[in-house]
Order: sequence, then structure tokens, then C-alpha cells
Amino acid sequence: MNKEERKELMRKIKEEVLNNTKLPLYKDRIKNKNFPVIGEGSHCAKIMFIGEAPGKNEAATGRPFCGASGKFLDELLAHVGIKREDVYITNIVKDRPPGNRDPLPEEIESYSSYLDRQIDIIRPKVIATLGRFSMVYIMKKFGLGDKLDYISKVHGKVFSVQGALPAGRQGSLHVEFDGRGASGREAYEIKIIPFYHPAVAIYNALTKDELKKDFAILKKFSE
Ligand code: URA
Repeated sequence: MNKEERKELMRKIKEEVLNNTKLPLYKDRIKNKNFPVIGEGSHCAKIMFIGEAPGKNEAATGRPFCGASGKFLDELLAHVGIKREDVYITNIVKDRPPGNRDPLPEEIESYSSYLDRQIDIIRPKVIATLGRFSMVYIMKKFGLGDKLDYISKVHGKVFSVQGALPAGRQGSLHVEFDGRGASGREAYEIKIIPFYHPAVAIYNALTKDELKKDFAILKKFSE
């Protein structure tokens, strides 16, 4: 898929999210004059970051990770020499849960198909999850449910999974990930790496150091 095709598919996702009145946080978005946060960065990124949901600053601007946790994410990226514009940053839930509460299971369920499509468009080499909600969602989606554990145990580990395009549909939208790479399909490898959420690290010096150490792994996948 070329750049223009990717851009167009992302634009469609944005349009759909904007107009989908059935989304559980749609009414809240309108009431608070917020924006949905679709994602930002390169549509050809090798590394895709997935957080949980927009906070106040993000919903006010429509940009992911632009508040306090975003500042720390920027610091982490700079620490390992990765440019923010070279990666893609998004969340599972595209609207802000009221009062910054955790996203509910039904919200994750309603918004996750947009994230799935974004992964299909970008086809990153690495999916870097930020926090436990995206860790759980992504690990289950890629057949790693049996490897799930507390984030304190799993953070910084690299899981290799096989994504596979159905035969004859190279470049098509719907990528099937079966965790095995079935024969007769164009299999490709994706690394899943869970990280702590940067927000946790803001007030916890130990987590901050762990995150910095973990981020070093990303360097080799960015080249
Ligand atoms: N926290 C997230 O998970 N995502 C954002 O975009 C901002 C804060």
C-alpha cells in the first residue's frame, strides 16, 4: 500500500469515528466540545505506540500524548534517539473517558475495530503497548493470552508473532493474525513489546528508570 492509500484509509477512519453517534463516548465528546483522538505520526512507521485513551489535553486538541505523559513520552523517545514523527502514536479508545477514569470493557470493545484497522494500514514491525489496557488487548489479539501477566513482570519483554495476509490479498485491508503464520499466506513477523504507561512513571522514579531502560530495546527496531 502506498503513502496516499494509507493516508486515505486513515482519513476514512477519522471520518467514521467523528460521525459514529453510537460510540459510547460520543455524547460526552459533543457535550464537552472535545475532539476524538485518532492518532499521529508516520503511516509507514516501523514502531506503533498504543496507549489507552485520550486525557484532557488530548481531547481538547485532538492529538495523542500531548499533555504531561506526552512530555515524558517525548523525553523517552529523545533518550533513544527516535523522532516522534517517525513513529505512529494512538490509543485503543479514541474519546476521553469522563474524569480520566479507566476505559470500560465495552468502550474498548466498541473502539477496538478502529485500532485493528490502523494496525492493518501501518503494518508496523513493532507494536509498543503503553500501560496494561493496551497490553491486554494486543497480547490477546495476537494469540499471546497465555503469556499475559502483571505488567511489572511482562514490561520490556519482546514477543515475536506471525501476522499473515490471506493468500491472494496482499496489501488488502483485512490482515488475519493467527499467531502462527498459516501456510499459503504471506507471513510476516511483528514484535509486541509491552511498556509501562508513561503517566505512571511521572510520579514514580523507579518506573521512570525501568521505562528508560526498556525503551533502549526500541532503538534497534527504528533503523
Ligand atoms: N494517556 C493515554 O493513554 N493516551 C493519551 O493520548 C494520553 C494519555
